[in-house]
Amino acid sequence: MESDILHNLDIILKRIENACIKSNRNPDEVKLLMATKTVSAEKISIALKAGQCLIGENKVQEVKEKYEDLKPIPHTSHFIGHLQTNKIKDLLRCEVSCIESLDRYDAAEKLQQRLEFEDKTMDVFIQVNTSNEESKFGVAPKDAVELVKKVALLDRIKIKGLMTIGLFSAEEDKIRPCFKILKNLQQEILQLQIPNVEMKELSMGMSGDLEIAIEEGATIVRVGTAIFGKRIYPDSYYWNEGKA
Ligand SMILES: *Cc1c(COP(=O)(O)O)cnc(C)c1O
Repeated sequence: MESDILHNLDIILKRIENACIKSNRNPDEVKLLMATKTVSAEKISIALKAGQCLIGENKVQEVKEKYEDLKPIPHTSHFIGHLQTNKIKDLLRCEVSCIESLDRYDAAEKLQQRLEFEDKTMDVFIQVNTSNEESKFGVAPKDAVELVKKVALLDRIKIKGLMTIGLFSAEEDKIRPCFKILKNLQQEILQLQIPNVEMKELSMGMSGDLEIAIEEGATIVRVGTAIFGKRIYPDSYYWNEGKA
């Protein structure tokens, strides 16, 4: 198990490096986030001890379950799943440093309230639904700028970038446009120079498409399966939750 994870990590890091070289980018510009849904704290520890330092969970319940076990190992924790407002308190308690999946104003307001109460701030990315699929969370690209402007007025929330899942497809010419949409939105928002908004981070690309994402400007790729192996639950269990 341990050697599998280390071997897989080597391959992923090599893939990231090669993609950076191919697109003339500095490999230091691209961070690896390990998507750890369904993965045990024990397995995650192996990767953290091997030098990785960024993980992302989809469910608050899993963040909570693994928190104590992972706490002694230095790392950073992002949240990449659907944000239920009644779970915000738990996320703050578990020292999640960035919510990559903020996609609606009412959740931002709830987050702001809680942050005020605890006298904290939180980094967020705005999640955009670039594949136009009903089943996926994220604000529609046409509504993204408006959402950024509104959230920017909430002083406890620090917008640092954008996130997208993209289309699940084997066809490159269908995946790439999703990433281009996110990159273009980033540029559009940068031009507006909105106070309290940074747009340095583009979180896009997963096990199957990280090379394309890096070519299109990803600064964070989120990889699960290619490091930890196949999951038992289908991704729809994580991505459609709460949706009809
Ligand atoms: C599961 C997940 C990933 C990683 O997907 P893999 O195909 O396993 O690499 C990335 N982003 C999000 C939001 C996820 O839920």
